[in-house]
Amino acid sequence: MPANPTLALVAHDAKKDAMVEFAKKHRDKLAAFNLVGTGTTGGRIQEACPELTITCLKSGPLGGDQQIGALIAERKLQGLFFFVDPMSPMPHDVDVKALMRLALVYDMPMALNPSTADILLRSARLTGLKTTSETPEVGTVDS
Ligand code: PGA
Repeated sequence: MPANPTLALVAHDAKKDAMVEFAKKHRDKLAAFNLVGTGTTGGRIQEACPELTITCLKSGPLGGDQQIGALIAERKLQGLFFFVDPMSPMPHDVDVKALMRLALVYDMPMALNPSTADILLRSARLTGLKTTSETPEVGTVDS
């Protein structure tokens, strides 16, 4: 089990540059997390910030969004930064919706754009969580 809180980073194609800029700007704060990302997003961040260690899952349309959803359901994730493109139809729209739905079900701190991610990064709710066992209980979810 990672000692640091785990943060997932996902960006749709039109938002990948914004995610890379966000990661570069906040690299010091992000270094305090166990980072996971969907394949392409994670690769772009790793390339731009080689000092960060990010576990790259499958590409979003190939199951990466669902892998992150599974981490949420298993209480292995403490935060999700998901920079969503609101202007383009996507073949994996169902996966996008499923991921956002699980984040809502489990009351996961989730930022859908850089300005909200900026605020969340300064939040003790996100940065103060050290292990999954300290994840707050979710009243609407049994286990
Ligand atoms: P990607 O996936 O980082 O592999 O492009 C993101 C997405 O869900 O579109």
